[in-house]
Amino acid sequence: MAQSWDHPAPEAGPRVRPNAAGLGRGELGTLLGALGEPAWRGKQLFSGLLRQRWTRWEQFTTLAKALRTRLEGEVDLAWPGIVHSETSSDGSTKHVFELLDGRQVEGVFMPYEDRVTLCLSSQVGCAMGCTFCATGQMGILRNLSAAEIVGQVVVMLNHHAHPLDRPVNLVFMGMGEPLHNFDHLMAAFETLTDAEGLAIPPRRITVSTSGLVSGIDRLGTFARRPRLALSLNGTTDEHRSRIMPVNRVWNLEALASALGRFPLQSGERITLEYVLLKGVTDSLEDGRRLAAYARRFPSKVNLIPFNPHEGSGFEAPDEARISALCGLLSKAAVPVSVRRSRGQDVAGACGQLVRSPRQGS
Ligand code: SAH
Ligand code: SF4
Repeated sequence: MAQSWDHPAPEAGPRVRPNAAGLGRGELGTLLGALGEPAWRGKQLFSGLLRQRWTRWEQFTTLAKALRTRLEGEVDLAWPGIVHSETSSDGSTKHVFELLDGRQVEGVFMPYEDRVTLCLSSQVGCAMGCTFCATGQMGILRNLSAAEIVGQVVVMLNHHAHPLDRPVNLVFMGMGEPLHNFDHLMAAFETLTDAEGLAIPPRRITVSTSGLVSGIDRLGTFARRPRLALSLNGTTDEHRSRIMPVNRVWNLEALASALGRFPLQSGERITLEYVLLKGVTDSLEDGRRLAAYARRFPSKVNLIPFNPHEGSGFEAPDEARISALCGLLSKAAVPVSVRRSRGQDVAGACGQLVRSPRQGS
């Protein structure tokens, strides 16, 4: 039976006026070219947008006044708007972004002493249908454009007045399956890592996938690419298929082969995310199988106690079981960490991101 993720997700409808917010350097050059300006000015525009993070045309003092006026009249500078924010007791803030078509996605700003980590969405909803995931229950509404992905970063950094020189980590662990929106994901990656803009190092960007082998293989063909995290969440095909329908297409063996042939840089490891669902994925047997799986290629395991959401029917294991599994993996010489989900008390932690489209839009 054809799955909805066999097909491309829909895109947002066409816009009449061009919008410069979130475009790549080349696209900005083309946009200026269409206005009769030399394309190399695209670089000035790009750095104004991403380095200075200017949000109004009048701020672009690096451009001639006449050009600024022209841009004001003919080109939008419309970033996704933050319509709601909630800060949790641990200091992380969940933001709800409204896109230009009224759809909403969520991103999380997580400040640490030496850096900030931004959790980003790649799609409105998700087609993968994992049974424990709130986003999976809403189905796929559409892909985010590359500009909308970049927009989440710029808007969150601006909102928190994050200084240019402090490191930024990006994780695609919000709404959506990033490898189901491959082209836009990679276009956003190019823009976000561009030395003339935010210049985020590729090793600071992690893409988490539910296990689309075709996408993993494709990612492996890029010399410049983000790091890879795989949501494993099950240690037998029977169990994994029950909670992650994608496993019926690419099972654990197919995934292990794909990860084994994924070209890693020296010292690079694949992160195996493993959601702990009480009585479903958290047995000691699971722990032993997980350790054996993780040792088949350079990896580290991230245990994620389930974040409850209404009507899910799942629970997180107790602390004793979490530490037993952690100990079991460490003993097997598998690097392991436990995700103490930031933002849990504001429903911004992984897997709790769910939004309904605005009515009537
Ligand atoms: N679609 C991608 C990335 C977004 S989900 C993926 O599945 O990898 C990010 C992570 O959150 C995944 O590892 C997923 O397994 C996990 N997750 C989803 N729902 C969760 C929940 N309710 N509690 C804890 N983790 C969850
Ligand atoms: Fe989609 Fe990831 Fe949620 Fe699965 S866990 S439904 S792939 S967002």
